[in-house]
Amino acid sequence: MERTFIALKPDTLQRGLVGDIINRFEKKGFQLLGLKLVQPPRELVEKHYEEHLGRPFYEGLVNYMTSGPIVASVWQGKNIISSSRSLLGATDPSKAAPGTIRGDLATQVGRNLVHASDSPVNAEREISLWFAAKEIQNWSRSLEPWINEEN
Ligand code: UDP
Repeated sequence: MERTFIALKPDTLQRGLVGDIINRFEKKGFQLLGLKLVQPPRELVEKHYEEHLGRPFYEGLVNYMTSGPIVASVWQGKNIISSSRSLLGATDPSKAAPGTIRGDLATQVGRNLVHASDSPVNAEREISLWFAAKEIQNWSRSLEPWINEEN
């Protein structure tokens, strides 16, 4: 089982798409372990996106990510890191396939609705950046055998 960090960016809240996007992750069969609404301080977003420091879009990205509340969440599932990025679609929504979140619901790279960790190392780094250990629930699902054949 893998864990990942999913953030619904400020445009998701402004556009009233929180329920729609969370629903896609739940319906896929992923398990929610942590969820909260955060108005992130600039330093938190800068740490989160430190790999992009110096890129032309960096300032705009940090402004966008601090422009309003974000839904921060932790999810668990088989191959969830690559699978959740497939659910999101390409970074640039104009290139994202129909059926994906960005392909269906967004048009621009600077307003692409959702973040999902891109590797196991980054997932653990981002989870610990955004969540305290006590905010994550390790609960067992009664329908687990109907989603994952072996546990
Ligand atoms: N971004 C942008 N312009 C670009 C590339 C990226 O505004 O040309 C933003 C976009 O919000 C993206 C985020 O920076 O989601 C992080 O970029 P990354 O390449 O890590 O894409 P992701 O992992 O989010 O698909």
